[in-house]
Amino acid sequence: MHIDGACHCGLISFTGEINPAGVTVCHCADCQVMSGAPFRTVVEVPIGQFRLSGEPKRYAMMQHGKPWIQTFCPTCGTPLFAAAAESPTSVVIRLGCVTQRAQLRPSAQIWRHLALPWLSDLPSIPDAAFASPPAVVRSPKETRRE
Ligand SMILES: [Zn+2]
Ligand SMILES: [Zn+2]
Repeated sequence: MHIDGACHCGLISFTGEINPAGVTVCHCADCQVMSGAPFRTVVEVPIGQFRLSGEPKRYAMMQHGKPWIQTFCPTCGTPLFAAAAESPTSVVIRLGCVTQRAQLRPSAQIWRHLALPWLSDLPSIPDAAFASPPAVVRSPKETRRE
């Protein structure tokens, strides 16, 4: 499946080919902190099928015992993708910046024992009085027009 995506400000964009059955949720503490969300959802693109436009900022770190490079937009800070620091064969895209994210239902979860304890309560947590959910999932380009 062909995907495309971009950071919130549009400085960095990318395209890639994915296996839509390979979308994974990670509940580890690194993913919680670095995504700014209760968990991170990712999908892998073989490195030969990844096309990047723009120059993201890089952050070297150890993740699960291996050196990784995390990337994000230097202007708006959107987390974009990560790759192994040594001889990467794939790029791990953060689903939040993928235009087709609504179609990409995860098929697996990892580090589930670290999942935030209230996640399973989400369906029963009420809407805030002021919130009306958007009717459609918008791409970053559409969001920026507002
Ligand atoms: Zn940006
Ligand atoms: Zn993780």
